[in-house]
Amino acid sequence: MLKTNFANTRSSELGLAGSKDLDASRNWFDRAKKVLAGGISSSARSTTTGDLPFPLYIARGLGPRIWDADGHQFIDYLLSYGACILGHGNPELVEILQHQLDLGTMFGTCNTLEVELAEQICQMVPCAELVRYANSGSEAIQGAIRAARGYTGKNKILKFEGHYHGWVDVLAISNRPGEAESGPIDAPRSLAHSKGMPDSIVREVVIAPWNDPEHLTHILDRHDGELAAMICEPIVANNACVMPQPGYLEFLRSQCDRRGIVLIYDEICTGFRTSPGGAQDLFGVIPDIATYSKAIGGGLPIAAFAGKRKIMDLIGANTVKHGGTYNGSPLCAASALHVLRKLNQPDTQARIAKTGQTIADTIKKEIHDRKLSAVVQGVSAMFQLVFNSDGRPLQQYRDVHRTDQKKYAAFRQSLLEQGIHINSSGLACWFISAAHTDEDVEITCRAVRNAFAEIA
Ligand code: PLP
Repeated sequence: MLKTNFANTRSSELGLAGSKDLDASRNWFDRAKKVLAGGISSSARSTTTGDLPFPLYIARGLGPRIWDADGHQFIDYLLSYGACILGHGNPELVEILQHQLDLGTMFGTCNTLEVELAEQICQMVPCAELVRYANSGSEAIQGAIRAARGYTGKNKILKFEGHYHGWVDVLAISNRPGEAESGPIDAPRSLAHSKGMPDSIVREVVIAPWNDPEHLTHILDRHDGELAAMICEPIVANNACVMPQPGYLEFLRSQCDRRGIVLIYDEICTGFRTSPGGAQDLFGVIPDIATYSKAIGGGLPIAAFAGKRKIMDLIGANTVKHGGTYNGSPLCAASALHVLRKLNQPDTQARIAKTGQTIADTIKKEIHDRKLSAVVQGVSAMFQLVFNSDGRPLQQYRDVHRTDQKKYAAFRQSLLEQGIHINSSGLACWFISAAHTDEDVEITCRAVRNAFAEIA
């Protein structure tokens, strides 16, 4: 049952339509700009709320719904970028967290929950023989890369153009290069994503196009013997859910085996979401190390990297250093343990799959019936609608340049007005939770049909 009567919101209309009152969000942003750089806490939270020159301030969430500071209600498919996979304020999770608050949130010592959680991860994830925790995806990536470098004694990392692996220097490279600057497809340039990154770090990263075995082979030949690791998003959540071509992950695996390169999957979006064991379980191609955040914590800040014993043992031996005051804190571990146990149950995964499939099928039907040049990419638990010139699935980052982001923005704005909250970026994706009800799905599908009618 949704509780709509709470102190910090006033009404619970679904969506922005019918109300021009957004004073609370506008005023909070004015205050924020005076004390927060850019008025925001993460670059991804820029003010791209469709037509609005300020972001919506979300005051509360319950189940699949969220309410902004002005009282507008939305069905949420951002879910904190996929983290809140059981929905907001899951009652069982709240009870567990309240109990843990009574016991203590963190002690900076070993705790039993971190052990139980690692056992759960090793049981669910095929590559996981040993685990270490972190607090954000970026940190988990840093840990995995350091382990791979320590294991191989090499420095260079191969990453794929357009794949996102966090904001830290180690891999914030060629995330979203412009067409003119990105270089030839057989030798894409390594481009810092930000000012303030040393050239020396950028030079250690080799860039390749995704889903292109021929060019990858040449690039690997050119860097033979130099690479510590190859890292990818197996489903490219940050390129509108581009899927790996059949056989492509197998190709990556065989190349890494042949050349002594550590294969790392960034499962920060796919982990525990695309199946209990993530993308490696879904595709049956197992990396050496995988990184996790988002769904693992169910909304609390916990991340992990897990992999083969022979690599992770270096961390165990303390020859590869890894630390962190907050790592595996009892509060976050308690949350993660509950979330993973739930996600390991077939009915939870089935619920997520059914919800996502119904919405994706509705979008596909609209595309078909209206003869639109558009495509739905991804899997039922995370997918994206892409408007492009030929209606064919994108294969790699450079295809993104030929998508119609204005059309996506109009589609998204229509949904927002009708109370459906999805990512403002057409290069990101819809995330589905286990808390979306049949009623939510019905409302969402109706809004989707209306949005297509509006933008036609
Ligand atoms: N890797 C992927 C695939 C991500 O989507 C993200 C965040 O969106 C990250 C890494 C970085 O995670 P965090 O934002 O927790 O540092």
